[in-house]
Amino acid sequence: MNFKAWFQCINGCSGRYDLTEIIYRCPTCDDLLEVIHDMDELKKRSAKEWKALFDDRYRKHEWPYGSSVWGKKELVCPNLDNDNIVSTYEGGSNLFYAERFGKQVGIDDLWVKQCGLSHTGSFKDIGMTVLVSMVKQMRSEGKNIRAVACASTGDTSAALAAYCAVAGIPAIVFLPKDKVTLTQLVQPITHGVMTISLDTDFDGCMELVKDLCMKNDIYLANSMNSLRIEGQKTISFELVQQFDWEVPDVVIVPGGNLGNVSALGKGFTMLKDLGLINKLPRLVCAQAEKANPLVRCFKNGYKDFENIQAEETLASAIQIGAPVSIKKAIRTLKAFDGIAEDATEEELANVAGRANRTGLLCCPHTAVALAVMEKLVKRGDIKKSERVIVISTANGLKFSEFLNNYHANKISGVESEFVYKPHELSADYDKVRDAIFQNLEG
Ligand SMILES: *Cc1c(COP(=O)(O)O)cnc(C)c1O
Ligand SMILES: [Zn+2]
Repeated sequence: MNFKAWFQCINGCSGRYDLTEIIYRCPTCDDLLEVIHDMDELKKRSAKEWKALFDDRYRKHEWPYGSSVWGKKELVCPNLDNDNIVSTYEGGSNLFYAERFGKQVGIDDLWVKQCGLSHTGSFKDIGMTVLVSMVKQMRSEGKNIRAVACASTGDTSAALAAYCAVAGIPAIVFLPKDKVTLTQLVQPITHGVMTISLDTDFDGCMELVKDLCMKNDIYLANSMNSLRIEGQKTISFELVQQFDWEVPDVVIVPGGNLGNVSALGKGFTMLKDLGLINKLPRLVCAQAEKANPLVRCFKNGYKDFENIQAEETLASAIQIGAPVSIKKAIRTLKAFDGIAEDATEEELANVAGRANRTGLLCCPHTAVALAVMEKLVKRGDIKKSERVIVISTANGLKFSEFLNNYHANKISGVESEFVYKPHELSADYDKVRDAIFQNLEG
């Protein structure tokens, strides 16, 4: 079979560009490009054949198909030689049945897709594997790429650093100073990647790295590079595969630069075009109220979009005021009967406190999605019997400062519902027993 994919303008300008070409924007209108697949070729296989193939590969060990991204290689990036694939066996993340939390909120069928249970602790791995593999292919074909660079709110840089270290490709990451967690800062450092901490926010880092990549032989790894979206769309593939190819009713995802919500939409659309599913879920994009440009636009009926100055939020990975994939995101929400809604700092912090008591371990972004879900249940946009999936974008362990400050009631502007500190006792049987029974009774 002769599967093919290429870059094309999102506004339909003419021109197709090879995926090994160093190009990020349409030369005609300067808007983003997207990866387009030869759907006629893909349709030569039946839906049944595709499902059987994907199920056969899922989490097995035949390189590289055990990775759930590369298990769908034909739909993701068929142009790559398997020898150039840089993989950490990404994808295939757990679906957590949030039974207790769902009941508390008033829904019966709530699942949390644990995309943060991955090599670098966030969903960024599933997009980065595609981008770095393509860079390896380009370098092997003799393209002049000295290094790969990105601006990041902490998770993209961790993923880029890890995948480049796996491949032995130089990388440079730009981080806003004091706006990422200690774990996120240490990740590129320990992978031996040049880490630049800038006295600005994410949007400021982004401007600089774009400039650097346009003027030098350095490849840009941010999500305006649509190769990453191709990997991220496999979240949708996996979700339905994990439910034996049944489509959930609602999918809620936290959004910052808005690549991921667009990727989810692209994944579901592709499955429907190929006949693997016959309906689409409703998509919800959740933002922090402090960084909510999409929500503002949604609430004024998509009339006009304006960038904003993002304010500091606990959900630091989505503290973005000028989202690069805004146009794709708006199109996605329109096509998926979508909703955009936001959550305050207090809402996100306390929903994390409550959800964690039911066994989840929420990062602040997942908490934003849960808080928005609660709002939608309360106002009837989500029904009790609907199957709801919340995309957990990062591992809560990357955000231990957040949980520590939360339980110490040290987050300014937030009144923690679950203030807690460890019982410090001398190692004395009676004292320990008394403390335990006091606690059980209280
Ligand atoms: C990157 C990231 C997001 C936002 O994804 P976008 O594609 O930028 O909207 C959300 N949560 C976490 C933890 C992230 O790292
Ligand atoms: Zn164009």
